[in-house]
Amino acid sequence: MENSKEMRKWLDDMALPHPLVIAGPCSAETEEQVLKIAHELKDSDVNYYRAGIWKPRTRPGNFEGVGAIGLKWLQKVKEETGLKTATEVANRNHVDLALEHDIDMLWIGARSTVSPFIVQEIADALEGTDKVVLIKNPVNPDLSLWLGAVERLYSANIKKLGVIHRGFSSYEKTKYRNIPEWQLAIELQTRFPDLPLINDPSHITGKRDMVFDVSQTALDLNFDGLMIETHFDPDNAWSDAAQQVTPDTLKQMFIDLKMRKETD
Ligand code: PEP
Ligand code: MN
Repeated sequence: MENSKEMRKWLDDMALPHPLVIAGPCSAETEEQVLKIAHELKDSDVNYYRAGIWKPRTRPGNFEGVGAIGLKWLQKVKEETGLKTATEVANRNHVDLALEHDIDMLWIGARSTVSPFIVQEIADALEGTDKVVLIKNPVNPDLSLWLGAVERLYSANIKKLGVIHRGFSSYEKTKYRNIPEWQLAIELQTRFPDLPLINDPSHITGKRDMVFDVSQTALDLNFDGLMIETHFDPDNAWSDAAQQVTPDTLKQMFIDLKMRKETD
């Protein structure tokens, strides 16, 4: 597939003084929770407000998301704070509902990127959209699946594309929840140098006290952005409690991180 400068135009057009920042809770829990976090992030470096409303849980019996009602809460976030909104989509129905509710950024989760059928269904549903679409790496360290997903979305004439590096699962126990395997993200960037590359230190580390260091590594490697899970009461979050940071911690991080992205 031909590489194209159009791939990163949406990001360059934002003319950000810093890498792109996507933050918000792992899951939308209640309307109050969604709005409270959004208001706490309003005056910060955050560009897109994330909240998962359909949650792909590896095992059944956990909180699986509030569903479509959460789209209305995200619309309210945009009205009240001006933040752009982002959520995960995993099938055609999710895409249709997210587009109907004017969600600005849709991402494909790691458990979906492993399935060419699902990726193709999402690509077909998004055909020609002007929304931003981000593709997380697949759960397993298979570069071809990630590249294949990029190719399917690109072929659906989606111009505002990007990828999210969220680490890779392994049977081996390490200090990470998902091993970064930075070389795979670098390899993807080598194949598509104009595709914005965003790091997700929350799902890589699984632990809030490691989020800063992984973020700094990503910025040192010249990543284009960060997606960081943020909750006002992380310990009581309904999903991914151990890895979420508070809005205050997030703001402090963006003071302490060496943020400047080199421009060429
Ligand atoms: C998430 O972003 O909350 C999520 C489910 O991530 P991943 O697909 O990377 O596991
Ligand atoms: Mn999560």
